[in-house]
Amino acid sequence: MRCAILADIHGNLAAFEAVLEDVERRGGFDEIWCLGDVVGYGPDPSACVQLLRQHRHICIAGNHDWAAIGNIDTSYFNPYAAAAAHWTAEHLAPEDIDYLRSLPQTVQRDDFTLAHGSPREPIWEYVLSTEVARVNFSYFDTRFCLIGHSHVPVVFALGEAHHCELRQLPDELLLSQERDRLIINCGAVGQPRDGDPRASYAILDTEKLTMDHYRVVYDIAATQDKILKAGLPPRLAHRLSQGW
Ligand code: ZN
Repeated sequence: MRCAILADIHGNLAAFEAVLEDVERRGGFDEIWCLGDVVGYGPDPSACVQLLRQHRHICIAGNHDWAAIGNIDTSYFNPYAAAAAHWTAEHLAPEDIDYLRSLPQTVQRDDFTLAHGSPREPIWEYVLSTEVARVNFSYFDTRFCLIGHSHVPVVFALGEAHHCELRQLPDELLLSQERDRLIINCGAVGQPRDGDPRASYAILDTEKLTMDHYRVVYDIAATQDKILKAGLPPRLAHRLSQGW
């Protein structure tokens, strides 16, 4: 099965559409595996939920999805994220809210565990260091774990003697040849934070066990325009062209 691995769409419809077009150009997909934060920050939360639901997919909950439906207190958010969460809550249709409420915190498929933040703390924890990653390998049973949340593409590998190393996410990852267990972040569709403003995603072939990582140019100005017109914090528009 060919899976489009999409994380952190964040209500950025222009980025989401560009990524779906890119996947189609590359031979299409059977299923989307969405790693949470479909909404929050961006100007099109409802349209993004609806576009996702038009496709065969699985999706897990992210902290911004939970904030938008009142599952978590936004006092834990920075002021810009909190303002966006309140705006998002007011711009979701009742069926969007029901859908976001229905999302599980983790899902296991074949050799893969899916979690937004980390397998230990699926909603909140950031896996940014080998120390945190090493501990998290004890919290899932599959060979591989796919995460989002940090918006930075990266791979953590657990090798012999419980040694954990950080690697760059390559353009082509041959999981079939991997002897290590891996925690993989494919980067963010709707708000990349690694200095590259292009949307980031991957295509996973679950039979061949290959993962191809792609970056996609999208109409950043269109999303920025909508953010400003919606009255969302201007900082959320500016950061998109910088990729942080
Ligand atoms: Zn996010």
